[in-house]
Amino acid sequence: MQYRELAHVYEKIEATTKRLEMRSILVDLLRPLRGRELTCALYLSQGSLRPEYEGVELGVAESLARKAIAEATGTSAGAVGERTRTSGDLGTTAGELLRTTRRLEDTAPLELLEVYDALTGMAHATGAGSQETKVQILVDLLRRATPVEGKYLVRFVMGTLRVGVREMTILDALAAAFASPDKDARERIEAAFNLTSDLGLIAEKLASGGVASLASIRLEVGRPIRPMLAERAKSLEELLERMDGKAAFEYKYDGLRVQAHLAKDGSVRLFSRRLEEIGPQFPDLAKALPSAIRERPVILEGECVPFDRTTGAIRPFQDVATRRGRKHDLERALEEVPVVLFVFDVLLAGSESVYERPFPERRAILEKLVTPSERIRIAEEQIVTSVEEANDYFEEVVGQGAEGVMAKSLADGSRYHPGARGFWWIKYKRDYVTHLADSIDGVVVGAFYGRGRRAGAYGALLLAVYRPDKDRFETFCKVGSGFDDSALAELPKRLAPFRIDHAPPEVDTGLSPDQWFRPSVVLEVKGAELTVSPVHRAGIGAIRPDAGLALRFPRFTGRYRTDKSATQATTSAELVEMYRMQDRSGARTAAGEHRVRHKA
Ligand code: ATP
Repeated sequence: MQYRELAHVYEKIEATTKRLEMRSILVDLLRPLRGRELTCALYLSQGSLRPEYEGVELGVAESLARKAIAEATGTSAGAVGERTRTSGDLGTTAGELLRTTRRLEDTAPLELLEVYDALTGMAHATGAGSQETKVQILVDLLRRATPVEGKYLVRFVMGTLRVGVREMTILDALAAAFASPDKDARERIEAAFNLTSDLGLIAEKLASGGVASLASIRLEVGRPIRPMLAERAKSLEELLERMDGKAAFEYKYDGLRVQAHLAKDGSVRLFSRRLEEIGPQFPDLAKALPSAIRERPVILEGECVPFDRTTGAIRPFQDVATRRGRKHDLERALEEVPVVLFVFDVLLAGSESVYERPFPERRAILEKLVTPSERIRIAEEQIVTSVEEANDYFEEVVGQGAEGVMAKSLADGSRYHPGARGFWWIKYKRDYVTHLADSIDGVVVGAFYGRGRRAGAYGALLLAVYRPDKDRFETFCKVGSGFDDSALAELPKRLAPFRIDHAPPEVDTGLSPDQWFRPSVVLEVKGAELTVSPVHRAGIGAIRPDAGLALRFPRFTGRYRTDKSATQATTSAELVEMYRMQDRSGARTAAGEHRVRHKA
């Protein structure tokens, strides 16, 4: 397959906003492909060379890309920069310049695998002279590229490809291309993806052996599993009802979710909520794990929280972030603060895959596996069988400073559900009792210029929630408060890589911000309440026809969710659920307070 075919597919995808059309373009692309061509086409379309969790990066600075474009098209790097100020994107500039550059008559077309291998060569180039090597590889590719190919090649190496196909749409396309578009096949494909986090692997299996071959997929150390997620409940009564009157209540630690993989040889890899490798940021955890775990290989999950060295007390994650100042990257801040990992689940124990076992069995295995140490502890837990017990435990942990409890089902079906949000786990936070149900993790899709003191900077951001069934982002608020001067000042830089000059096709909103962004940056907001809105599109139609939901008086909490990708933001369905949860004026809450809600 030639690379130009892939480039044309990107063009077609960029020109459509319709998910079905996008899917059929992808199906046509993928169906004839097999083996490496299939996996490479998939990885490239995701803007990467390997599954995302491997974190393979090209490491090409903009100045290098400018130099390569200049050399390949016979201009100067300065002229490339100048043009880019108008075109807004280096890829567009490369395409434009290639259009006016004479290509040699006998230039062989770029093969897909050839491009993939060249880009891999770029990623692997390290040490002295590596920058020159990278430039030369890019120059060689661009000299043979058509304008359209050049545009996407440059976007790829700059990490700005983002053609707008996300995992859910690719899974749809894989089902249609290699299995059947029915619900069962699609669910099995998604389940296999949740277990492996590797689209290439799933595609290859499907293409060679159909859906049945997915059954042979096993957990593997070093390959992260997409995390199981929790639902919310209105009250402890409802929570217990959903759990058949009995549940394991755990302390809900407010930190960073960590999936720890310990190989047989004792090496440790740690993955974040978005499956990024975070081991290097927590060398102390990586060091503490092997001596605290009795068997290997093992895959564990836990929450990593800062603690006070002198008192040993857990410190709220948020406190550390604020204390350090928002300019600092959260992860960097954490590195300097001692952390402890509270493990709460086990998926693989000594080569045995245990994620399909009911939770009580997993917890028992966990307790046997772990010898608690200063840095590695087991999440506190208590079995509760009545609302009184539940309330007592909740009050107790909240009194100790926890944000709430995580209730876990003890039923036969309480296996670990990778990537799924369900009522097997229910989170119940102290915020539910006093405020709007929960904080919301919104994706930045636009910005409005400020006025007055904020003139010349962004004054407010347009936020969206994710809607997986449509693979779209639906807006729910415009947030301007909660940003102090330094947070405002750094917004343009933080958002610059995601700027685009038109509304992203995957965004649904009734507003027109001054600047649009590709959905990428996730931040946490709180607000007074959710209301039905004529301009926002979150959960459109769920409460009232043609109306979405909006958050009133939204406020940035100061927390960027760098551990979440855009598709891991709060979903439209969760927002609808939260709207329903808040709709209980005067209801007596578990903490014994009366809540009165005034609906706008
Ligand atoms: P979500 O993970 O549900 O998308 P979120 O990341 O915003 O949302 P919360 O809504 O606060 O987090 O709650 C879920 C998270 O709580 C889990 O992903 C996990 O990181 C954390 N957590 C803390 N304690 C526990 C525990 N004992 N068991 C499971 N998860 C826990």
